[in-house]
Amino acid sequence: MNKLLPTSTAGSLPKPSWLAEPEKLWSPWKLDGDELAEGRHDALRLALADQQQAGIDIVSDGEQTRQHFVTTFIEHLSGVDFEKRETVRIRDRYDASVPTVVGAVTRERPVFVNDARFLREQTDQPIKWALPGPMTMVDTLYDSHYRSREKLAWEFAAILNQEAKDLEAAGVDIIQFDEPAFNVFFDEANDWGVAALERAIEGLTCESAVHVCYGYGIKANTDWKETLGAEWRQYEKTFPKLQASGIDIVSLECHNSHVPMDLIELIRGKKVMVGAIDVATTTIETPEEVADTLRRSLQFVDADKLFPSTNCGMAPLPRGVARAKLAALGAGAEIVRRELSA
Ligand SMILES: [Zn+2]
Repeated sequence: MNKLLPTSTAGSLPKPSWLAEPEKLWSPWKLDGDELAEGRHDALRLALADQQQAGIDIVSDGEQTRQHFVTTFIEHLSGVDFEKRETVRIRDRYDASVPTVVGAVTRERPVFVNDARFLREQTDQPIKWALPGPMTMVDTLYDSHYRSREKLAWEFAAILNQEAKDLEAAGVDIIQFDEPAFNVFFDEANDWGVAALERAIEGLTCESAVHVCYGYGIKANTDWKETLGAEWRQYEKTFPKLQASGIDIVSLECHNSHVPMDLIELIRGKKVMVGAIDVATTTIETPEEVADTLRRSLQFVDADKLFPSTNCGMAPLPRGVARAKLAALGAGAEIVRRELSA
């Protein structure tokens, strides 16, 4: 990527209402069988067109082919029983009914590789593909087999590594691992979470990213954020370990959040996807607001390592809002790009 300030999103975009019920997480599909397969790819092409129209440089599938960023991946693995459900507390925040690990977890076949290949065929732009991180996967399951979060995370890391290598071979330029759990379980993240993530990227020649955020703009998350006080210093606990890791890019939340911007200094040397779009509000940022966030971040990240992005995925937002936010991101980055090259 030679372009200065290449823009991208943290991940998901809203799905069309003919594919799944909008503004909802875990929204059930409205199609099935061959129609669903075709519908998902049609939605992928629309999500790609929206990104291209907005001037987004590193494009993704907008996660149009998955129902949820963690569970869809797990659904494709053996060793997990989706009929046997238990209620667990996700990220210490909200209860959800989740599937149970009942035996050794394995990946019998590639999960997203065909979808990634399809995206690759649609564009010559750099593409980024998101996978759940090992710790966040562990936190979204009930484990009656390994009975150890760490052990299960290492198993998932090995599986993610297989999938990542296949995605790389399919032409993916950046593989991103979503690890919102790093913002909650600091001791575990430092003891084994970051190490498991490094296992997941072992042997990759494409770039790797980790996305650590404060979650979608859903009520459970906004209620939790109310309890975090005036300054959100969670990144301080894990950034030193990430700085020392082999991960190339760190994706973080910035605009409108209470994260002190100087925490970005802790990952100096890494490429940084700075969230300049708030996904927890339908208010559209102006390009100037985006530019302002990026300018302030430039105190702590070198210009050639700054990747303007969104705070998190935009799946729960209305489509029009998400498109307008994408456009603001593209336009805001362009303002700062011009200033830097002037
Ligand atoms: Zn996120």
